[in-house]
This record gives sequence, structure tokens and C-alpha cells, in this order.
Amino acid sequence: MSTTTDYDVVIIGGGIHGAGIAQVFAVNRLRVLLLEHYTVASQTSSRSSKLIHGGLRYLESFQLRLVKECLREREILLRIAPELVHLVPFYIPVYDFSTRGSLTIGAGLTLYALLGGLGRHFRFRRYRRTDWTAPDGLRREGLRAVYRYFDAQTDDRQLTRAVLHSAVTHGADVEEHAEFLHAGVAGKSWRLYYRQAGREQSCRARLLVNATGPWVRQTALKIAPEAARPAAAVLPQVSLVQGAHIEVDRVTEQGIYYIESPRDRRAVFVMPWGARTLIGTTETELQAPVADPVPLAAEIDYLLHCYNHYFEPLTQTEIVNSFAGIRVLPKEKSSAFHRSRDTRLIADTHHGPGVVHVCGGKLTAYRHTAARVYRLAAPLLGAGAGSVDTSRLRLQPVE
Ligand SMILES: Cc1cc2nc3c(=O)[nH]c(=O)nc-3n(C[C@H](O)[C@H](O)[C@H](O)COP(=O)(O)OP(=O)(O)OC[C@H]3O[C@@H](n4cnc5c(N)ncnc54)[C@H](O)[C@@H]3O)c2cc1C
Repeated sequence: MSTTTDYDVVIIGGGIHGAGIAQVFAVNRLRVLLLEHYTVASQTSSRSSKLIHGGLRYLESFQLRLVKECLREREILLRIAPELVHLVPFYIPVYDFSTRGSLTIGAGLTLYALLGGLGRHFRFRRYRRTDWTAPDGLRREGLRAVYRYFDAQTDDRQLTRAVLHSAVTHGADVEEHAEFLHAGVAGKSWRLYYRQAGREQSCRARLLVNATGPWVRQTALKIAPEAARPAAAVLPQVSLVQGAHIEVDRVTEQGIYYIESPRDRRAVFVMPWGARTLIGTTETELQAPVADPVPLAAEIDYLLHCYNHYFEPLTQTEIVNSFAGIRVLPKEKSSAFHRSRDTRLIADTHHGPGVVHVCGGKLTAYRHTAARVYRLAAPLLGAGAGSVDTSRLRLQPVE
């Protein structure tokens, strides 16, 4: 067993949430250790749709606060990470057979612009069928209009690495291939154990942050003792929903297309990705988290069918890559599509050493979530709650 080290905060999980939380605590001069079981951003945070957006479709489920918050974060990220986050035109075609007609799309984009503060990035335009020259081979049959608006795209793995790099430059320690095993209360601290390179290691922390994404519940169960800690005993109730993407050897030049699946009317994105195109996503309920999830044959078929309904048909042979990630959603009966994308924090920062569990959330809102975790825990750590700000820290791509 290695020597024991004392930290203010130990964060379990090296996805975007762990990285953002490490950054805000490190910037505020606290001693931070982040433990990642595999490698940084190897799980959900490299398997998303890579959009930094308010989420136009969340207006349908009235998640107005979330949309507003994410649009504010989008603007911050465009400013502090211009090499990593960039605006992209989005196109929404409206057909005779579309569920969401011109009125709905126009109203939605107006509300989106209002929630975004009506800045210059929020202007949208409607092309009549006759003005649309069908770039990228978008189907014209039945087309009524095409709406264009702007949102942002990133490389999620690169963004996560950049945020973590910022944390490290402010003094955070990061351990990869380090699996958190369990933690117990030792006076005013946690004593926690993790396994790295086959050896069990131990350290102490005043605050433990569970940012293990799909593993949030499993990790919470390893933090003892639940009975003595009322809030921590309320373990996160989540459901896990896989989303798949396929990458195809075809160029999409204009921007991102927001199309409606002919099977179940869900929104699906067709996105330029380098010289290729990324198509996603799906919703498949899972019983338990898995590392490196893979798309099911049915998910690939769903995405191909959707693309082929609107564009020059593709065959399986044009798929050059595919990947899947796992969403953490509230456990509810409604369809995954309509469930809240809010980040829930379950915290106990009043009984001895503190613990915060991060459940769900968006890549886009990581900075906001990290600031919320900081504000919750700052009094426990005797840190200044006012000095949180990471919205002015420039993020640079990491080689
Ligand atoms: C298909 C899909 C599309 C999405 N698209 C978007 C989008 O376009 N825009 C957007 O804003 N959001 C999007 N999201 C949401 C976003 O990707 C997630 O909210 C975000 O990546 C979650 O990050 P995380 O840090 O919580 O989890 P993760 O990235 O999964 O990180 C958790 C980490 O914890 C580690 N871990 C687990 N157990 C242990 C342990 N015992 N010890 C040490 N480490 C451990 C894991 O290895 C993992 O690396 C999407 C999500 C999915 C699934």
C-alpha cells in the first residue's frame, strides 16, 4: 500500500463532470485528486453527439430553465474555448409528412432566440422550398420549407481533456487506470481506497465527489456508512439509456441536419464530422452500466433507415465507425426522449466529511454544474463561495 496523502477533494470519474469539478476546486486553491478507472473521457464524454447547445427539442418538454442555462453556457464556451467550440448552421427540413410543422418550428426557434437573449447568434431563417437548392442531397419530394439556425459543435473528448488540463495547471492531481474501491468515515475525513496497477492505494479527503456518470449508483453504494448519513442514504435512482451513433464515409457540407425519424418521430442529427458524417442517436434502455458500450444491430438499422429516408441511401458498407454512450436519466415511466436532462446533485455536506453525487446532465452545462458543486461544498471546506468563476479561464486544446 502506498503512502497516504491528504486532499480537500477527491473526485471519482474523469469525464466532463469530473474534469469541470476538478477545475473549479483547483482554481480556488483546494487540493484536488481525480481518479479515473480507465482513461480520461473514455466513456460517455467521448460518446455524445458533441453538441454545445441549448437543445431546441427540450422546449417540447418545457425544460425552459435548462435550455436557457445551456444557451448561456454555449455563449461562454464560444468565448473561452474558440479552438474547441464553434458555431454551426443547423437545418430543419419541414415536409408534408413532418409531425412538427412550419408554425411549430418557427415558434420554437423564436422562443429559443428569446431564451438565448436575442443575440446575433440567435437569428434564424426560413427557406421556402423554391429557395432551397438541396445541398448535401437532402430529399426534395414533399419538402415545404427549411429552417436554419445556429448552435455549436465540439470534440467532446478534446473539450474534456482541455478542462482537465486547466485543472492540472492549477494544481490538481489526476490518476488514470485508478479504480475507486470504497470509502469510509475517518473522523472529519473520508479514507478512501482505490486500485492502480494492481496495487491498493489509500488517501484521505474532506469531500468526495461521485462523478462516475452511468456508475453513479454503484459508486454511491461503495461510500459508507449510509445509515449514519441521512442524505447520502438517498441513493440516486436513475435509469440508463444507451444512445448510438454511426460514422459514414460521406461528406456533409452545409451544417447539421435535424431530421425526424420516420419510425417514431424522434429527432435525429446528421452532422459533418471531419470529412465524414455522424448520424445519431438512439434510445435503448440498459439494466446496468457497461464500459465501452457498443451499438446494437437494431440501433444501426434505425439510424440507416432514418438517414436513407431523407438523403441518398447509404449501405452498411459505408459505415466506417460506430459508438455508443450511456445517458443517465431520472427513473420515470415516460419515454427517455421526454425525460429531464437536468443535472441532479444529491449531497450531504453537513454531517462530517461531505459527499456529492452528480446524476445526469449535459456536456454543455458542465461548467455550471461544477460551480453548483463548488457552492454546495465551499462552506464545508472553509473556501470562499464567491470566488468560483471559471467563465473567464481560457481553454486550450491539448496535444
Ligand atoms: C448518446 C449521447 C449523446 C449526448 N449528446 C450530448 C450533446 O450533444 N450535448 C450535450 O451537452 N450533452 C450530450 N450528452 C450528455 C453528455 O455526454 C453527458 O452528460 C456527459 O458526457 C456525462 O459526463 P460524466 O462525466 O457525468 O460521465 P462520463 O463521461 O461517463 O464519466 C464518468 C467516468 O467515471 C469513471 N468511473 C466509473 N466508475 C469509476 C470508479 N469506480 N473509479 C474511477 N472511475 C470510475 C468512468 O470510467 C468514466 O470515465 C449525450 C449523452 C449521450 C449518452
